[in-house]
Amino acid sequence: MKTRRNFIKLSALGSVGLVANSALANNNDLNDESFKNQKKIAKPIVISTWDHGMAANEAAWKILANKGLALDAVEAGVRVTESDPNNSSVGLGGLPDRDGFVTLDACIMDQHNNCGAVAFLQDIENPISVARKVMEDTNHVMMVGEGAQQFALKKGFKKVNLLTNESKKNWEKWKENSKYQPQINSENHDTIGMLALDEKGNLSGACTTSGMAYKLHGRVGDSPIIGAGLFVDNEVGAACATGVGEAVIRISGSAIVVELMRNGMSPEDACKEAVKRVIKKHKNIENLQVGFIALNKYGETGGYSVYSGFNYASHTHDHNKMIDAKFYREE
Ligand code: ASP
Repeated sequence: MKTRRNFIKLSALGSVGLVANSALANNNDLNDESFKNQKKIAKPIVISTWDHGMAANEAAWKILANKGLALDAVEAGVRVTESDPNNSSVGLGGLPDRDGFVTLDACIMDQHNNCGAVAFLQDIENPISVARKVMEDTNHVMMVGEGAQQFALKKGFKKVNLLTNESKKNWEKWKENSKYQPQINSENHDTIGMLALDEKGNLSGACTTSGMAYKLHGRVGDSPIIGAGLFVDNEVGAACATGVGEAVIRISGSAIVVELMRNGMSPEDACKEAVKRVIKKHKNIENLQVGFIALNKYGETGGYSVYSGFNYASHTHDHNKMIDAKFYREE
């Protein structure tokens, strides 16, 4: 478990663009008078939660480095994690609910505030791509369960058995005691949330998970909920969450992080403030791991978690590495 305390603060990197320093909220207007006070933008950049973010970022980077869209990058990136049978917290190979069903939650959001989400979706390997179809091909934002599956099949997705032998074995072992116990930084949860800023300076994000392992059948967490698991505002920045989803939903976690950045906080400070809010609103934070990552329009990033051990992957022209998030309490 990683416990390194030193947070590696990212400053402007690989800059290819400039925006006004004054107000993030105005940075769409490049003719603004306040544009005198310029600040470099580090772009493109992609960040994503946990170790599995490294492989996912690679796929996203191929698109970003070729001047592709942030939206395409985040979709392609998290699909890698969804399709990895060895990852037990996302997509194929995800740990099931207490009744043995792998149920998936995902959402995606672009630079125009378009968004799409699926929840409680079964037997479809890449829920993020279904979420994108909801966003692009319907008037809705969120589809769940059987309806979402029917929609996916109509759109050409294929049914896949997501419960791998390994996950089935783990579930059968769990059934011996049947104790529902989220564990800090364990692979019985660990969503991938990904945020990207593309060459044009546009932001998008994606978030996908099989949710808390051995959850109640029908439980949906924060990950497919816009504003909780993910939020993007192209004028300001983007944020996503991982950890105990119920705690994230209670404070509208990712939307809060973006609003705090709008009011002038750095990505790291905004994540820290959201974590403080989680702590304040929960009497018992025993085993309550929650982590946020954020990316602003300048390409600056930050992360913060309740407990140590949370990290995120970051890929730019200058680096490709894991960064340990700062935290409130040692695990
Ligand atoms: N946030 C996810 C959920 O509650 C799980 C996680 O990220 O660890 O479903």
